[in-house]
Amino acid sequence: MPKDSTSNRRAKPPAVPLSKRDQRDGRRVPEPRAGEGWDLDPVEVNAEYASMVQRQLALLGEDPSREGLLKTPDRVANAMAWLTRGYSQCVEDVVGDALFEEEHRNMVMVRDIELYSLCEHHLLPFFGKAHVAYMPNGRIVGLSKLPGIVEVIARRLQVQERLTEEIAGAIEDVLAPTGVGVVIEAYHLCMMMRGVEKQNSEMDTSSVLGTFRESQATREEFLALIGARS
Ligand SMILES: [Zn+2]
Repeated sequence: MPKDSTSNRRAKPPAVPLSKRDQRDGRRVPEPRAGEGWDLDPVEVNAEYASMVQRQLALLGEDPSREGLLKTPDRVANAMAWLTRGYSQCVEDVVGDALFEEEHRNMVMVRDIELYSLCEHHLLPFFGKAHVAYMPNGRIVGLSKLPGIVEVIARRLQVQERLTEEIAGAIEDVLAPTGVGVVIEAYHLCMMMRGVEKQNSEMDTSSVLGTFRESQATREEFLALIGARS
């Protein structure tokens, strides 16, 4: 049988180009509950971003002046500022002074760290779990700091491969351990919602440095710990 061609991947019914859409009549759209989600972690609204979202709504064929959409540009501006807050944070600030001298030489691992990020190709979420481990070399970090490092790096526009490597690199920079291992298992809405590769929408990536790369025993211990479920 011939291999599945791109024609089979086309969405049905196909999307209507933005330039050919009728403008939506706001009076005929049912209104959502007023103020829904409005007070969620508000920050100072970026007016320029909000006006860009208003334009975006119109280009999608919507009526930005209908009641349900009136606050949407400000909401989206706030939400995007929050979802990309990692740009204004750095790993050093997250770690702070939570570094300790310690002669512990066995693997330290935090498993199932909740992870949310935005794919830089579609600005759609990908989300899942990160598993982070390192082999100390005279220095350890407060355990809660590892999820914090993941969080700062994930809250930027990312691709999963680079996210994985940046987390490993950050731990190497902060701790100078003898090895680092990071595994991320994530679902990508840009694949799931667009109907692309639904079967393979969970993606696994890993980054291993130092002993995690050189020693098969260390790598296997790491993978076994990820697989172990209580
Ligand atoms: Zn994407």
